[in-house]
Amino acid sequence: MTQDKILKRFLSSRADTFLSNDYVESDRDWMDLDGHIDLTIGPYETYADELFGYKAAFQSRIILRDSVISSQQARFNEYLEDIDLALPVVGQFTRQKQVPRVVVGNQILAGGDGAVGYIAVAYMLPNDHETRTLHGSKKVLMKNFIDARMKHIVSPIGCVLLDPSQVENVTSKGYFNFVLLHELSHGLGPGKIGSEQVTIKDAFKDLYGAFEEAKADAYGLYLATQFANIGVLTRDQEAEIYTSYLASIFRTFRTGLGEAHAKAELMEYNYLLEKEGVRYDPINRRFSVDYEKAREVVYSLLMNLLNIQASGEYQRAKDFSHRYGNDFERLPDEVAKGLDLLRGVPKELLPVFQAA
Ligand SMILES: [Zn+2]
Repeated sequence: MTQDKILKRFLSSRADTFLSNDYVESDRDWMDLDGHIDLTIGPYETYADELFGYKAAFQSRIILRDSVISSQQARFNEYLEDIDLALPVVGQFTRQKQVPRVVVGNQILAGGDGAVGYIAVAYMLPNDHETRTLHGSKKVLMKNFIDARMKHIVSPIGCVLLDPSQVENVTSKGYFNFVLLHELSHGLGPGKIGSEQVTIKDAFKDLYGAFEEAKADAYGLYLATQFANIGVLTRDQEAEIYTSYLASIFRTFRTGLGEAHAKAELMEYNYLLEKEGVRYDPINRRFSVDYEKAREVVYSLLMNLLNIQASGEYQRAKDFSHRYGNDFERLPDEVAKGLDLLRGVPKELLPVFQAA
């Protein structure tokens, strides 16, 4: 069937689960996959069950792992713990134990539930709480989908809304690195807080999602600077990450303020603008990054977010979202006007898979 022993083990255990309907151990085999082919197949998402959201639909995805990025990612991983420990976060908390596994590759085929509905550029599985507690989870980033989103959506947005002198810094590599650093950042910072060891998810309830996404964005940018400081990334790559990030937040804003990423990026935008890490020129109606300033502002934003999480105080998060997130009710005028200029730019991708 295959020479890859780990893939073989997964294929066998997954075939068994289709009869037994018990996916826990086989999902662990899925998380262990480390070869060229990363195959996802099984019943996972329940969106298609519009009655109760209980019944999962079957999906399949074939991912070919990108070995160049995987080795660069391994270099990032070496430094993450030291960087995290060096941050002066105040409060009684324990750090996260299970750093999520992140796989990067190109999706060459999707079937069933994987080929319909929302076009994901990344996915994290399994969703099952028991399996996650026992074995953790795995995030798969689909590079060809991220690149397509960049080419057809984020880059055209950059051309319209960013200062012409910075448009060349909106790049596929910059955007991809930002997404990767964002995902790695979800595994950093406080995990459980207080003497009761409450999860930050329970402590921040409805605000958890927005603050977790904001943390991952700010932390991702902070990592870009840290990696540039020690030569793991170049200064040009750092600038591309910051600028591609700025272009990408307008893509998120186009989806409305109902969802955690958009809420997060609204807080980030207002914070960066107030402290001049991002500038808006009302004459030419363009946005730009002040790279020098942005580094400091990203650090102070990150420290605010981490200290809010570490405190476990819901009211602090509420106050911050009121001040910087406009209570998640409206976009700033200049942003809303900017989005009006994007009418010719597509909102979403529609992939077509070709059988060779
Ligand atoms: Zn995220």
